[in-house]
Amino acid sequence: MHIDPECPVDLHTHTTASDGSLSPEDLVDLARKGGLCAIAVTDHDTTDGVIRAIEAGQRAGVMVIPAVEISSQHKPGSMHILGYFIDTGEPRLQNTLAEMVRNRDRRNLGIVERLNNLGVQITLEEVCGYAGGDVLGRPHFARALVEKGVVSTIQEAFDQYLDAGAAAGVPKEKLPPELVIDMIHGAGGLAVLAHPYQLRLGDGEELESRVRRLCDQGLDGIECYYPEHSEAQTAIYRSLAARYGLVSTGGTDFHGSSKNQSRLGLQLPLQASCVLELATRRARGKPPRF
Ligand code: AMP
Ligand code: ZN
Ligand code: FE
Ligand code: FE
Repeated sequence: MHIDPECPVDLHTHTTASDGSLSPEDLVDLARKGGLCAIAVTDHDTTDGVIRAIEAGQRAGVMVIPAVEISSQHKPGSMHILGYFIDTGEPRLQNTLAEMVRNRDRRNLGIVERLNNLGVQITLEEVCGYAGGDVLGRPHFARALVEKGVVSTIQEAFDQYLDAGAAAGVPKEKLPPELVIDMIHGAGGLAVLAHPYQLRLGDGEELESRVRRLCDQGLDGIECYYPEHSEAQTAIYRSLAARYGLVSTGGTDFHGSSKNQSRLGLQLPLQASCVLELATRRARGKPPRF
């Protein structure tokens, strides 16, 4: 598919296959209406929405990049790694994703138990009613808590019950970043550090040394453009990208109504040239570091 290098793109979106509110088809339709020429479908722990999105994209003239978002071990904040241009049929990737979904299922039982102990009458079946696929996450719990009238907003559900350290917060088992990066590479993909501000390492030396270590482990890119990043942060992440030979990417982390906001592609200064850079890097392998 030919794409204009200056056309806007959004490389971080979620569908009903994980915790987004739009089906893959509706997401692609929204992208087309918004004038985007490419999106990456980056559902948490699953590629189940990718094929449907690609097929819808072929009909709509929107390029859909097969992708995934995986949480990784990190303290004090959280580390999410995006895998772009992955082969969704690669067995090791799919086996590991299936194991992650089983870990989620165990955690979800823990959340239900904690909520019940707090006097909130809720069942796993009720929460499953809000999920469109096999990946059940905290946003589905948040929605159930709002619909039951336990809290009045999604944010309140996270603050009072679901955040790490909140009353019913149960941690998810995660893989170390080197294994996540290796798994993405094994599936022919590129590994990109998502929303670096969520690492909670600041924007100075601590962040840089963490990024350097990730580069040594094979990191390919860094998500510089993200709605929560200030202009100063974007500039810092872009200079890290330049210094370490990483591709600068970006996306809105679109979840539809699941995250109380709707902003697919909105106000991102991100163009399709970034997709071409990713594709080139994938074709040529990693550039040398100086
Ligand atoms: P999980 O993967 O089940 O731990 O859920 C993580 C997802 O929950 C994130 O990717 C966000 O989509 C969402 N999330 C996390 N914190 C919040 C919050 N404070 N408000 C709304 N959504 C949140
Ligand atoms: Zn999410
Ligand atoms: Fe994320
Ligand atoms: Fe995300």
